[in-house]
Amino acid sequence: MTDDRGRRYLDGVSSLWVTVHGHREPALDRAIRRQLGRMAHTTFLGLTHEPGALLAAELARLAPRGLRRVFYSDNGSTAVEVALKMAFQYWAHEGEKRPEFLALSQSYHGDTLGAVSVGGIRLFHHAFKPLLFTARFAPAPSCYRCPFRRKESAGMLRGIEERSLRPKPGDRRAQTACRWECLGGAERILKARRGRLAAAVVEPVVQGAAGMLVQPPGYLKGLELLCRRYGVPLIADEVLTGFGRTGTLFAVEREKVIPDFLCLSKSITGGYLPLAVTMTTEKIYRAFLGRPEEFKTFFHGHTYTANPLACAVARENLKLYRQRRLVEALRPKIVRLTEFLAGLRDRAHVGDVRQAGFLAGIELVADKRTGRPYPVTARVGHRVCLAARKRGVWIRPLGDVVVLVPPLGISMKELERLLRGVEDSIVEVTEGEPA
Ligand SMILES: *Cc1c(COP(=O)(O)O)cnc(C)c1O
Repeated sequence: MTDDRGRRYLDGVSSLWVTVHGHREPALDRAIRRQLGRMAHTTFLGLTHEPGALLAAELARLAPRGLRRVFYSDNGSTAVEVALKMAFQYWAHEGEKRPEFLALSQSYHGDTLGAVSVGGIRLFHHAFKPLLFTARFAPAPSCYRCPFRRKESAGMLRGIEERSLRPKPGDRRAQTACRWECLGGAERILKARRGRLAAAVVEPVVQGAAGMLVQPPGYLKGLELLCRRYGVPLIADEVLTGFGRTGTLFAVEREKVIPDFLCLSKSITGGYLPLAVTMTTEKIYRAFLGRPEEFKTFFHGHTYTANPLACAVARENLKLYRQRRLVEALRPKIVRLTEFLAGLRDRAHVGDVRQAGFLAGIELVADKRTGRPYPVTARVGHRVCLAARKRGVWIRPLGDVVVLVPPLGISMKELERLLRGVEDSIVEVTEGEPA
């Protein structure tokens, strides 16, 4: 990217988690021009069109088994709204009234009111509380700030606390304890709210906006099994994690999980145009079929639903994934990112490093031993990003978590430049050594 004074920057967060091949990818530019030469927009209500139909067919081929039905909307928030409303109405068609949802604390699913209702980040969501419907929040499985750490009853955790106040990244014992405690928390809700929950909604593997909180291995699978046991559909919000960001095409694949709803947006158009889909199963789809006078229709449609320009660029984007074997080609870059993060761990103010595939969060803290955060007014995360800007690297933090979401198509050389810029900036701000 180039600013108004002609200075150049490497984009280390994919323009807020969307850019895939880089900016100004010629093939994507061409795909939009090609579609412009045919038709810019027609409604999808009562009509269909080639890019929309072919993209849906392709998504049905790529998605986990059983997710064959595609509903278009415009952004990540609407993809989640659609899943929530569909799940609710599915139960209504089955003759059940289920007005509540299970969600994770610290979750982020978008900024429209339904998505905010299942959102668990106090700073973003608290102000709107009087406007929201009921969500029951299960503990966020995040080992660094474990919600059960100080609880007497968490017997398994007592041993960890004796050894060190904060578990090291990848600490197996901590992960196992965290998984069981957090799944236990989810199960208590599933049991207590039996027959009232329309669905459980989760960001699989990584809770992005919370600061790239990475779930311990096995958590997602455990949640899927619990949902099946209690008969609650599972909504996977892969708006961030979808299309390779965690090293597999979809994050649910990492745990062989098949959700009932899959929400996709961000990377779907390679970062070019707003588009989203909510995918679901034949079973859910069929519940909405009936005679016209039964009005079983899912009454939800946006004016620009399945915009042909967006669908055309999404198709070309997916073609580039195939041609460039983008997800496979990511492996050495993920390895490099892992090495880099391991090297950062011993830095004086790096409290935690978290990684899932090509997504990473580096949590900076005032006191490494206790994990005590910096005062908000110190704006440490923000200052690190300003320091990075001087080095020609553009990143955006979440509080004091330095977030890395490199475009998947970044070259090894560019990746090195990005990582060096990030480390030097962290050292400059937190250790006071102008690097
Ligand atoms: C970004 C994001 C959303 C919201 O997407 P928008 O396009 O900004 O509405 C929803 N869920 C997750 C997991 C996200 O990261």
